[in-house]
Formats: sequence, C-alpha cells, structure tokens
Amino acid sequence: MYVIIGAGIGGLTTALAFEKLNIPYHLYEKAATINAIGAGIWLAPNALKVFEWLGILDQIKLAGNSIDRITIATSTLKTLTDSKQDDAKEQYGYSTVAIHRAELQKVLAKNVPTDKISWGKGLSSYVENKENITLTFLDGTTTKTDYLIAADGINSVIRKQLFPESEIRYSGQTCWRGVTSFSIGEEFNHRGLEMWGKETRFGISRLSKDKTSWFAVVKSKPFLTDNREILKEDLLARYADYTSIVKDLIANTDINAILRNDIIDLKPIKKWYSNRVCLLGDAGHATTPNMGQGGAQAIEDAYFLSKVIAENTTKDAFKEFQKVRYKKVSSIVNQSWLTGKVAHIGFGASIRNMVFKSMPKSMIDKKMHYIYTLDKE
Ligand SMILES: Cc1cc2nc3c(=O)[nH]c(=O)nc-3n(C[C@H](O)[C@H](O)[C@H](O)COP(=O)(O)OP(=O)(O)OC[C@H]3O[C@@H](n4cnc5c(N)ncnc54)[C@H](O)[C@@H]3O)c2cc1C
Repeated sequence: MYVIIGAGIGGLTTALAFEKLNIPYHLYEKAATINAIGAGIWLAPNALKVFEWLGILDQIKLAGNSIDRITIATSTLKTLTDSKQDDAKEQYGYSTVAIHRAELQKVLAKNVPTDKISWGKGLSSYVENKENITLTFLDGTTTKTDYLIAADGINSVIRKQLFPESEIRYSGQTCWRGVTSFSIGEEFNHRGLEMWGKETRFGISRLSKDKTSWFAVVKSKPFLTDNREILKEDLLARYADYTSIVKDLIANTDINAILRNDIIDLKPIKKWYSNRVCLLGDAGHATTPNMGQGGAQAIEDAYFLSKVIAENTTKDAFKEFQKVRYKKVSSIVNQSWLTGKVAHIGFGASIRNMVFKSMPKSMIDKKMHYIYTLDKE
C-alpha cells in the first residue's frame, strides 16, 4: 500500500498513474477543498503526453487554451524570439496548453475515485521502520502504510524530516500574478507573450474564453508584503515604460485576483528517497518558474514512478526512479535558475536582447526537444 501526501499537480497525477497501473494507494491533502484563487500555468508537451497516456488529455484541453505561438519581446513589444508551435504540434501531437491551476486540479481530482482521497487531512510527521511507516496527521489521528510518496510541495514536511539539511534558495526576484476577464484582443488569443524590460518581466497568456492570466516579475528583497490599497498604482508605476496592453491588464484586474510570491527553488539535493519514502515533484526538486516546467516535471515524475514501481520490487523502484529522472530534472532546475538571472539583467540589457535575437533556431529546437520528450535517460 502506498500513501501519497499532497493533492497538488504531482500528487493527483501520481494517483491517476497508480490507478491506471493497479498500484494500491490512498491520497491525503491538507486543504479541505481545491483553492479557487490561483493563477495560470502552462502545460508543455511533455506534461500533455502524460495526460494523453492517462486518457484525460481532452478534458485538459477543454478546460484550458491552446498556445500556438510563443513570443519573447522587449517591453515595447519588439520581438526577440517568436516561435510558432507548428513544429511542436507536428512532432509531439500538441503544443502547450495554458490553464487555470484550479481548473487543472479539478480535472485531475474528478478522475480519482472519491474513496481514495481524504481532504482536510494534513500530515504532521512520520516514523519509518523496517516493516512499515506510521503517519501522524495534524488532527492527531494515525495510519500505517508500506510506502510513502511525498508530493507535498516545496515546503514538504516529509523532506524536512528526511533531509533536514535541505535548503530553499531565494532567486532575488518576486512575482505578482493576476487573472482577469479583460480581453486584450484576438491577436493574443492563442499566443503566449513574455516581455523583458530593465530588471523586470511581464508575461501574458489567455486561459479560456473569459480569462487572461499575467505575471509581473521584479528584482526585490525577500519576504516583502504589499499595501493592497496602493498595489495597482505601484505595479502601474513599475511597468510605466511597458506597452499599453500591460497597463490595461493591471488596471482591469480585481485586486483580490492578484497574488504575490517570492521566486524560490530547492537547492538541488543528492538523494530523493529512503527505504520506504520517496520525494516527488516540488518536494524533491522545486525549480524557479522561468521555464514553465516545475509542474510538468512533477507530472513526468508521476509517470516514471508508477512505471518503475510496476516493473521493480519497491526498494529498487525508488532508486531506479531517481536514476531515470535526476539528470533531466537537474538540467531544468539549473537552466531555469540561469534564465531568471539573464532575464533580469539591468546593465547590459541591450546586449542580452541582441544575443537572444541572434540565437540560432536549431539551438532552441534541440533544447526544446530534450525537455518535451518523455524518454528515459
Ligand atoms: C509563479 C509560478 C509560476 C509557475 N508556472 C508554471 C508553469 O507555467 N508550468 C509548470 O509546469 N509549472 C509552473 N510552476 C511550477 C508548479 O507550480 C510547481 O512545480 C507544481 O505546482 C509542483 O507540483 P507539486 O504537486 O509537486 O506541488 P504543489 O502543487 O505545491 O502541491 C503540493 C500539495 O501538497 C499539499 N500539502 C502540503 N503540505 C501537506 C501536508 N503536510 N499534508 C498534506 N498535504 C500537504 C498542498 O496543500 C498542495 O496541495 C510555477 C510556479 C510558480 C511559483
């Protein structure tokens, strides 16, 4: 029996993968329900491939919006790179889907049998011994399991207990995200846009017919909070030299639909498992959002973990899982960290833009192919 802790993107996808391969499990989630407040997320072809394998791709597509063109531009909309996603469609069968995080979770959760998820049940700690694991929940109840899958996110209580030396890194950047029903015109219906200014970034993508999502990233000290009464004015001032679309979006977003998070990741750890415990998704390898791959990597984890469990004795399965996943995940974590630094160059921004503009398409394609493919290492 497996217990999965955390019904986020990784935990729910793992439940569906275990369901498909007849691996016995129960999923526990701290939150009482799916949080409706949230922002947009991109699902790249590698994530969509897993959803196709699970038989839920059509439901995901219906709940989200296809991104057929991805543009990186300057703050005044001068193109740096512009890639139509036809090649991706041809090669992988689909491009990228932008979707509201809550909608994604809803689709995943509704496909998990209700008697296999317990909501409002947060894990407090666990004791691992030779025969099994005893779990203690925040409400004081306990249960036993053979194996424990930690899908409890970047602040994982399980990882903190297993590897207390693990460290969260602050990237030096903070991010506001908003969702609005304001429409910025048909040209952007299926186009993901990211604009780079001087030490700032702004991204836009439509999530559905009546929802557009944006993010705004700036350099900042960590742990700052907003005075929400003047937040919009503050953001409008920070993005004053950006194209008018940016200002229209900020101005037309309900203040309650704007979230702020410092951009952090997990300093790579060497091992993701013990005898009976295995970390998955952000719990084991949280990455900065610069490549839009954190969720996709959690989804890939679910695919490979379920396959290796179905093929191996469990003890070997966790070791094999790390062997299969570690190289790709590490390369994404490192590349994403670097991308964040480059995107926020202040002095030298024009050189950065020139380098980006002249980057050969073959180089970008090679990188994308590595990320979008689901092969074992
Ligand atoms: C600004 C931003 C933008 C992003 N954009 C993208 C993107 O476009 N594409 C992409 O692929 N990724 C993106 N990501 C990354 C993505 O959000 C994460 O990588 C992904 O959510 C990780 O999934 P997870 O299931 O591992 O963790 P989470 O989604 O964090 O889920 C963890 C779950 O565990 C639960 N939990 C926590 N503690 C306990 C406990 N003690 N007991 C029980 N349950 C518990 C939580 O309530 C939560 O439901 C972005 C991240 C950020 C911050």
